[in-house]
Amino acid sequence: MSTSVESFADLGLSESLLKTLSEIGYETPSPIQAQCIPILLDGHDILGMAQTGTGKTAAFALPLMEQIDIKVAKPQALILTPTRELAIQVAEALQSYAKNLPGFHVLPIYGGQSYTIQLKQLARGAHVIVGTPGRVMDHLERKTLNLDNLRTMVLDEADEMLRMGFIDDVEWILERTPEQHQTALFSATMPEQIRRVAQKYLVEPREIKIKSATATVAAIRQVYWQVSGMHKLDALTRILEVEDDFDAAIIFVRTKTATVELADKLNARGYAAAALNGDLNQQMRERVIEQLKSGALDIVIATDVAARGIDVPRVSHVVNYDIPYDTEAYVHRIGRTGRAGRNGNAILFVAPREIRMLRTIERATRQPIAPLTLPSRADVTNKRVADFKAKVAEVLNAEGLEFFANIVSQIAEEQNVGAEEVAAALAMMAQEGKPLQIAGEDPRPAPAPRDSRPGVFGEREQRKPRFEDRGERSERPRFEDRPPRSERPPRPAPAGDMVRYRIDVGREHGVEVRDIVGAIANEAGIESRFIGRIGLYEESSTVELPGGMPAEAANALKRTRIRGVPINLRIDEGRPGGSFGGERKFGGGERKFDGERSFKKKNFDR
Ligand code: AMP
Repeated sequence: MSTSVESFADLGLSESLLKTLSEIGYETPSPIQAQCIPILLDGHDILGMAQTGTGKTAAFALPLMEQIDIKVAKPQALILTPTRELAIQVAEALQSYAKNLPGFHVLPIYGGQSYTIQLKQLARGAHVIVGTPGRVMDHLERKTLNLDNLRTMVLDEADEMLRMGFIDDVEWILERTPEQHQTALFSATMPEQIRRVAQKYLVEPREIKIKSATATVAAIRQVYWQVSGMHKLDALTRILEVEDDFDAAIIFVRTKTATVELADKLNARGYAAAALNGDLNQQMRERVIEQLKSGALDIVIATDVAARGIDVPRVSHVVNYDIPYDTEAYVHRIGRTGRAGRNGNAILFVAPREIRMLRTIERATRQPIAPLTLPSRADVTNKRVADFKAKVAEVLNAEGLEFFANIVSQIAEEQNVGAEEVAAALAMMAQEGKPLQIAGEDPRPAPAPRDSRPGVFGEREQRKPRFEDRGERSERPRFEDRPPRSERPPRPAPAGDMVRYRIDVGREHGVEVRDIVGAIANEAGIESRFIGRIGLYEESSTVELPGGMPAEAANALKRTRIRGVPINLRIDEGRPGGSFGGERKFGGGERKFDGERSFKKKNFDR
């Protein structure tokens, strides 16, 4: 690990939060947490360069929670995120840290969710609001959100907010926050505009950057699997089963709870596995390592700290089941294999949102990490059959086979079958409970990393917000909330084609192409690259969107406002109204206007 801080208790957090962290299995602070938490607890502003996977959420959430006055049921912290997915995720994280904080209330508010629900929830009172800029702005304008009691403001993934065209909204919100509050800005990259915002709105911020020390790794084969279409556990066992030179593995996870859970699950699947975490005393820890050395155990599931310095030459594989916080941790982890001149293999599981961390690791280790195709069912079967044949071949050379050969002849004669059939019956018996063929479907291959985010109408299709499900069952849209037929969203066009829509905002409303892209991307969960040509006119605009839009997305768009103006999305029937103001292709189809993307690709992604 790259930090000398070993314990959350060293960071100045309260007993109650320390208890929670221990309960949810956090063993040690991640580097960004070790750096940020004391600074934020001291009341300073922070400009943090950190990406997903570094533990940045807890880095700002824990200090923020220390400052909440539970008795005051008013927003005391506002966290702005670029997407509703992230808003929900961050709200869930805060809720989990509030385990021992009775009465704590965090509320995610984002585009696409019914105002009726949000208004009720806001009226009920929340201590922390996590929201997307557009929707937060709306509530501020409607005066349904009041920031008079605000103490902390967090801008999460600021560069994404910039990329999605929300930066003006963010500034608009910042202008309306009370003078006295602490601000933390996190961004994976630091483009000029984000620096400018930081200079304008942060007060003497401390700059935090996770060091990304370059390191050369020994001759270790490094591959990654992009988590998709299959549970990590199933993927893990498939991979381990077909890996050629598998002998023993150390599997890294983040929490001590996860070490135990995964060990139990692997044991249940017949692996000799054990957990290694900070709860074990030195003696127990040594015992686990001894067992791994001797072959009594084949798999150890460990946290970073617990596995530090392990030197067991038979460890042929290191699996990063949870991605490490930084490159240094990665290098330490994979250094547990390829020891004593042997070959080593490092397998990294990467969630779609963590692709950036993968690239950072590649840069730091100066080695490409190749994508791993999950073994198919046929691959696993072939491997099992090959192993079985090898075992039989071994026994064929063993002594004392004549006795059994004699029995086989007798069976063949008595049953009036050939020796081959008898052998087949015996093979079946030998494999009872250990099938050579595996059941189930093959997962669909993972999309290429660039395309790994949700589909066209991705977020909406992919995940029903768990948060919303909780305690909101009684809030299903009532019949009277439904718009009359004439106002219902346009009938869906066939999927695949682009459909041109008209919206009632244009240049005279101060709208720019990026505002339209940002609003649509967020409210309807359509990725910007799927948004087609945008025509910007004086009083209205046109935008091409993929056909087959789900009703939910269309509904959300009908209600969307840009710069406070309802856009009234509908299929465009004729020629543009108002004076022509120029058309720009943003993304989609031919990808003409992809300057920003190409730039990103070149400079940030690798
Ligand atoms: P983030 O970078 O904030 O998105 O966090 C990534 C993941 O790391 C989340 O699943 C967190 O629950 C987990 N995590 C964050 N901090 C710690 C920690 N100190 N120990 C273990 N897991 C953590």
